[in-house]
Amino acid sequence: MSSPAPIAIVWFRDDLRLSDHPALSQAAQSGAALLCLYVQDESARPLGGASRWWLAQSLRSLAADLASRGATLVLRRGPAAGIVAEIARDTGAASVSWNDVATAPGRAVADELAARLADLGIAAQCCQGDLLAAPSTVRGKEGRGLKVFTPFWNRVLARGDPPLPLPAPKAFGAAPRIASDTLADWRLEPTRPDWAGGLRAHWQAGEAAAQRSLQQFLDGAVAGYAGDRDRPDRAGTSRLSPHLRFGEISSRQLWHAARFAAAERPAIAADVDKFLSELGWREFCRHLLFDNPDLATRNLQPAFDRFPWTTDPGALRAWQQGRTGYPLVDAGMRELWQTGAMHNRVRMVAASFLVKHLLLDWRCGEAWFWDTLVDADPASNPANWQWVAGCGADAAPYFRVFNPVLQGEKFDPEGDYVRRFIPEIAGLSTKLIHQPWTATPLELAGVTLGDSYPQPIVDHRVARQRALAAYATVRNN
Ligand code: FAD
Repeated sequence: MSSPAPIAIVWFRDDLRLSDHPALSQAAQSGAALLCLYVQDESARPLGGASRWWLAQSLRSLAADLASRGATLVLRRGPAAGIVAEIARDTGAASVSWNDVATAPGRAVADELAARLADLGIAAQCCQGDLLAAPSTVRGKEGRGLKVFTPFWNRVLARGDPPLPLPAPKAFGAAPRIASDTLADWRLEPTRPDWAGGLRAHWQAGEAAAQRSLQQFLDGAVAGYAGDRDRPDRAGTSRLSPHLRFGEISSRQLWHAARFAAAERPAIAADVDKFLSELGWREFCRHLLFDNPDLATRNLQPAFDRFPWTTDPGALRAWQQGRTGYPLVDAGMRELWQTGAMHNRVRMVAASFLVKHLLLDWRCGEAWFWDTLVDADPASNPANWQWVAGCGADAAPYFRVFNPVLQGEKFDPEGDYVRRFIPEIAGLSTKLIHQPWTATPLELAGVTLGDSYPQPIVDHRVARQRALAAYATVRNN
């Protein structure tokens, strides 16, 4: 009788896919029987509500994809290093493989696991596949990460194409079943009340859905992306961010698919370059987090530590609920609440409104986005908030205070986006849709400002002056 195949554990992390998964491919090629494992370890930043919902869908999809190849996804909860090492010991596994997650907590837990496995005499394999370029490969002269996007991105581009993505293993042997939690045990999805109806209506999680979204984007909206990406009234972007966040698709897959499309259709080459540079921002944020583990809590520019933020729970609530009286801001905040996402242009305007018009600390907004975005990302969320607030890397200059009316008129010129999310003012004319308070009673057509829709909670000109004065204290410091 031949002896059973050795067991190889594949530890899934922020990489809930089968294709372009170096750790899985390598373990499958070894001929071992695979034990696929996901550990919910909340010793890092606990996920927000919308992300928990997405994670549940994504794990369900991954489990189904593994089941179609005869394998089960084992779910466990607790400190990951201890749990993975314990399972490796108890099952007599020959090896454990995982993909690097280049963040401080991601590296710390992997280092601890590697040390435990070394003590047990079990082989450990950490693979690269998360980023286009690992943080160690893009450093300044003094060995530090770059803080300005353009030189950063030029350095990434100069490295040439990243490795080609790997196909999903067609088949592999499965290790004997071991005990697993169920998804229901983890209570990731809301029940009482079940507020996730809007998320279900707008999204489908999982690797197959991610691949479909990419294909749809490359067949459609990519043509014109460079201009349309700023238009919340158009379906001009890829909507891939939550898929990327949970690793249902890799940035290498995006890179090569987009480059291939551009080679076939040279007319979209400039749009593809723009799309990849947006992916570059994601990468830039990851590198920033790598060098600044406290990105979500500490100003990258220490001068902002003395910024005179105000405290105003009423204003914060009005912003969260989409009741500031500025239609573009309110439409964005309602889009977020209903769908778990917000268009990038509107994210910038809504975030700027919080920190500049309301003078509320960017961390309040970051925390709200963290809880409500399906793509809430430990790097992209704080890095973008710091960028908007002016305290981050390569940040928007402090004196740039977005005017929500002009932004609306420029990027939602017919008011279609505002009408979609604020039905109570949908009957206003296009001239008034971004500034209903300027309407005469006749023009208001049944809208009672201050009742069915709020009056502006701050006057733009007053707020702008106040913001500039507050920022001047930072500059003078
Ligand atoms: P596309 O335009 O199709 O872009 C393709 C991909 O590039 C995106 O999926 C995303 O992964 C990446 N990308 C695009 N813009 C950015 C950017 N500015 N920073 C980092 N990556 C980018 N993005 C997140 O993924 N998670 C967050 O938590 C997040 N929080 C944000 C908070 C604020 C205040 C702001 C201003 C932006 C934030 N973004 C965040 C960036 C951006 O808004 C989203 O990535 C984008 O709206 C996602 O839509 P899309 O996939 O259709 O983007």
